[in-house]
Amino acid sequence: MSTYNSVINYLENIIQTNHITLIHISCSSYDPDVVNTQKRAIIINRNYQTHFSYHFRLAHEIAHLLTETTHTYNFSQLAKSTSEKKANLTGIKILADCYFSDHQSKIMCWERRFQFIETFGLGQLTHLVEHVLTPK
Ligand SMILES: [Zn+2]
Repeated sequence: MSTYNSVINYLENIIQTNHITLIHISCSSYDPDVVNTQKRAIIINRNYQTHFSYHFRLAHEIAHLLTETTHTYNFSQLAKSTSEKKANLTGIKILADCYFSDHQSKIMCWERRFQFIETFGLGQLTHLVEHVLTPK
């Protein structure tokens, strides 16, 4: 199975387990993805222009739903707010759990970090990826 499909399956499993509704819409390239925590809904804009991969956008929004209780969020991974940073960190952890298998050592994961960053379009969040993957 390709990485693409296995990551999608992994994320869809989290979505189902947590009773999240996933909706895809086609708006302008400037309209970010949105999450509504009250309705437990993620709305992905197919046309949104971003360097982040679809997987990461989904993982970021899932992270909002798993960690927040109120408000509607726009997808703004580069925002400095605490909740956005937390969603980025949790989103990266979700993808890392899927991407790196259990038997890989922390050192092996660390050595593959640039491959991980490239796969998910996380160049702008390299510091957060390194924070998550730093061998402790
Ligand atoms: Zn967000």
